[in-house]
Amino acid sequence: MSRPRTPVIGGNWKMNTNTESSRALAEAVGEGCRSIDGVEVFVCPPFPYLRRVGGALKDAGGGVALAAQDVWHEPDGAFTGEVSAAMLLDCGVSMVLTGHSERRHVIGEDDGLINKKTIAALNAGLSVVLCIGETLDQREKGETDAVNERQLRAGLNGVTPEQMASVIVAYEPVWAIGTGKTATPEDAQDAHTKIRDVIGDLYGADIAAATRIQYGGSVKPGNAAELFSRPDIDGGLIGGASLKADDFLAIIRSATG
Ligand code: PEP
Repeated sequence: MSRPRTPVIGGNWKMNTNTESSRALAEAVGEGCRSIDGVEVFVCPPFPYLRRVGGALKDAGGGVALAAQDVWHEPDGAFTGEVSAAMLLDCGVSMVLTGHSERRHVIGEDDGLINKKTIAALNAGLSVVLCIGETLDQREKGETDAVNERQLRAGLNGVTPEQMASVIVAYEPVWAIGTGKTATPEDAQDAHTKIRDVIGDLYGADIAAATRIQYGGSVKPGNAAELFSRPDIDGGLIGGASLKADDFLAIIRSATG
């Protein structure tokens, strides 16, 4: 039986790479994706390399989308250090992450700001990957589903049913990001089912069934296939392993099966 949703794999390069290594990585990923069907792929390089990586992806073929790691919600003005949705579009970006756990827990973004960014990006015509997930403390207190529901409802506040076609949700338990610890496929599937239920409550069964929900948190070539085999896990958001083209391509291939 074919999957109801096309899996989507994203590479979040975080604050890594430089001019040359970002180009080489983009080229290798783009070339590798030429022979992979049935999976959508995007990469999120650091801001300074967006244009160059976009060019390398285009030259390589393979259909890999260019995404940004963050966006500011105002259109222009006195916001030192920030980057608007229009600037991202101008650099060839088509997608953006909002609410990544490092923005929430290292930089200190709250649900209100993440919602403003999500709305601004969607209104500008970007697709959004809205990242949600619980901390270890919240998990140990049994709050996983409540935290996901709160972050989801707040993040999607004001997003129209039509705009949901441009939204991907990434469930990334904070304790699993960059730690080598991964949620079991059963736990991840359970969280994804509950997330889909919340989307259903907000937008109805059809939109819930059509929305892609990625898993993120120490996905590697060795654990990807098992995670992606679960019915509600529609691919993954990959950090560390997306910095090595061979590992990232192996993870992408795992989503085809
Ligand atoms: C991430 O940054 O979204 C992530 C999942 O990182 P890692 O794969 O390194 O855990």
